[in-house]
This record gives sequence, C-alpha cells and structure tokens, in this order.
Amino acid sequence: MVSITAYGGVNEIGGNKFLLEDKDARIYLDFGQSFDFGTDFFYEYLQPRAAHGLEVYFEFGLIPKIPRLYSKTMLEKTDLKYEKPDIDAVFISHSHSDHVNHVSFLDESIPIYMGHGTHRLVETYHKLYPQFCDLGEHSNLNFFKSGDKIKIKHLTIEPIHVEHSVPGSYGFIIHTSKGPIVYTGDFRLHGPKSEMTKEFIEKATQAKPYAMLIEGTRMGSEQEHNYTEAEVENKVDEIVKESKGIVFGYFSMSNIDRFMSFYRSAVKTRRKLIIDTKFAYILDNMKEKIRDLPDVMDDENIAVYFRLSKSGTYSEKDYYLYERKYMPKMITYENIARDQKKFLMHMSFNKLMELVYIQPKGADYIYSSSEHFLEGEENEDERKVLENWMRHFGVKFHKAHCSGHACRKDLEDVIKAVEPEIVIPIHTESANDFGKFHGKIRILEKEKRMEM
Ligand SMILES: [Zn+2]
Ligand SMILES: [Zn+2]
Repeated sequence: MVSITAYGGVNEIGGNKFLLEDKDARIYLDFGQSFDFGTDFFYEYLQPRAAHGLEVYFEFGLIPKIPRLYSKTMLEKTDLKYEKPDIDAVFISHSHSDHVNHVSFLDESIPIYMGHGTHRLVETYHKLYPQFCDLGEHSNLNFFKSGDKIKIKHLTIEPIHVEHSVPGSYGFIIHTSKGPIVYTGDFRLHGPKSEMTKEFIEKATQAKPYAMLIEGTRMGSEQEHNYTEAEVENKVDEIVKESKGIVFGYFSMSNIDRFMSFYRSAVKTRRKLIIDTKFAYILDNMKEKIRDLPDVMDDENIAVYFRLSKSGTYSEKDYYLYERKYMPKMITYENIARDQKKFLMHMSFNKLMELVYIQPKGADYIYSSSEHFLEGEENEDERKVLENWMRHFGVKFHKAHCSGHACRKDLEDVIKAVEPEIVIPIHTESANDFGKFHGKIRILEKEKRMEM
C-alpha cells in the first residue's frame, strides 16, 4: 500500500513536508519551514535561543511530534524519547527555506539527498545567515544530478531539473509499487531555462504516472499577464536608460536569473553593477556550479560595495575574513556620490542607510522581488518606511518582477500533458481550483494519511 502524509505544504504556499510510504520504505519529499512559522508566538527579539531544541516548538505545536525522526540533541528537553530513526531518506527539491530549513532538526544518520547546486547554496546561505538550515552534523549527505536513478529499498527516485527562481531546482519521479508518482517541487516555464522544466514534463509524461503532486502557488490568481524574465530585463533596460542618476535594484540574491537580467542591463548601458560583500560571496560560491556566471574578481562590470566601518579608513581589520577577498574590487560611497549616473546598485531594505552617504540625485529604485511585500498587510510598517526614504531622497519607484512559479495556464497545460490518473495539489491555497483541469483531484489534509 502506498500512502502520502502531509506535515506541511497543504492549504499553504510553502512548508513542504510529505511522507511517502510504500511497504517498508519511508521517504520524505522536502522538509521545509512554513513562511508563517512561529509568527503567532515569536516576535522581533522574542525568539527561541540557539540552546533550545524542539521543546519550544512542541510546546506550541509548531513541529509535529513524530517519533524516530529527530536528532538526540533536538529531543533532549522534550517528552519525546529518542529512538533510532525509521526513515530511509529525505529528498530535497531545492534550496528555498520552505523546502529545506527543518532538515536541521532531523537525526544526523538519516540519508539526505539534494542536488549539488542546492547543497552549495544551503551551505553558503548558512554561513551568511546562521539561522538558515544548519546541515553541520549530518553524516549522510548525498548529492544527485538530473537523470540519476536512486534506489531506496524497492523504490527508484529520479530527480530531473526544473526551472525555478533559484538554480539547482528539481522535480522527482518516484517509482512505487502502485506505479510512478510525480512530485513537481516548485517550477516555472517563463524564464531563460524553461527547457529544463520541459524536459521534466516530458519524462513525467513518458512515465505514465499514477499520481502527480503539483505545486499551485499561482492557481488562485486569475489571468493576470504572465511576465517573463525577458520582459523584466527589457523593463529594467528602459528604466536604467532613462534614469538621470544612480539606479537601485532590489531582488533576492539567490535568484541568479534576475541577477543576470540586471547584470546584462548594466553592461548594455555601460554602468557598473554594484553588489555588497554578501552578494559577492554568494556569486563566487555559485560560480563553480554555474559556468556562465560572471567572475566577481575579474569582471570589470562588477564592483563590490564596502560600508565605512569602525576605523573610518576602510582598513582590512574592519571586515570579516570572507569579505577581505573582495577588497581589490572595493567601491565606496565617495566613489559613487561623485559619479552617480555610472552605477546600477543592488539595494536591499536593510542597506538603505547608505543613501544618507551616497546622497542620490535624480535616482530610480526598481523593486524586483515578490509582490507580497508590496501588498501584504503585515508588511505595512516596513513599506511605509521604504516609501518615506524614497520620498525624502526624491527617488522614483518602479516595479519589475516575474514569478518563480508557473501561471495558471501553464499549470493547466502541464496537467493535460502529463495525464496522471490522479492530481494532488500541494503548495497552494487554491487546491479546489485544480478540479477545473482534471476529473480526479485528491486533496491532502494535514497530518492525515492518504492511501493511494
Ligand atoms: Zn516553495
Ligand atoms: Zn521555491
């Protein structure tokens, strides 16, 4: 008997944690953290300390109390007894926190499988942001590439690359005793590497799957225009060309496609692209895995921003070891302030203070990340602060973004191409809408086992 139990990723966008059981084989598909994880109990500085294990999360029912899964250290102060784990493997589709972050709670002996690129990104992010997924003590990490066939007892799992807003993203075809089961992970079809998703869809179709677990992030958004990455690049080009001053851009540092759109825009308009030391470190680490990425140290179109620190003299001692490598590429606010029109600068919310030193004139700001921040009620305070900064410095605000997820029409086309016997919507708040595109929808309920 094959069954699936969702511990996250149903009735919500993100937080994927799916247990697939078949005879004596038990694997998890992703082990992520929900986007609203802990928001009911933790606030600003009211956060669990590093010394805490799962006791805090169990107290508020934030993490399911599943025996034989978590590590000894994590269970130490809880009433759940440590037992040797009975999970054969955990497969991670990509490096976003809503798919990987809770791997840190798992027993170190459980085999974890992820793509090479995913591993590199997880490690890089953990170094820069220690609260991001700690793989530190896991003794059983395994890395796959697209097309591998991984045997777990009688199951065979095939990871196949897909395009998403982070490199190294995969979907899985799992060959079970009930037939193949497809798990899409997060994917899209409107970026520069859509061929990868097409390959995944082809292989999924050929497998004639029994079931498909498909993400539906955008299932609920009615037919708005589906912006492509190419359109984003065009829009950025236009804004940069017209701008009379420095152009600031904000986008996620792990979104390499978006970085490339801004990078090309800078090259086309003969501006230098300015990134900070964290961003330089991420690109440097991804360079080995993505050959066509520009080399931070060698590329004359890229400069690395150093904030004025303690000594006030940009002395080496003011910066972390990892940052010092980029000192030959250093650009400071003095350099920028003098010649503002020559630059396109990555600017996150937390770095706005630099505007006080740069004193932008005739500048533009391109917000190029999830619309969520611009619309969500919970972000109102932050949004107001951003608006105030823009107004204070007379910076013109623009939006240029496309989603990392397939639009409704693409979801429909994928379902019609793959033709699984049953469709199981995941990673969505609009599961019922899938019924418009397929006659047999099954809807998972949290922590309830669904037999196939
Ligand atoms: Zn996700
Ligand atoms: Zn994702």
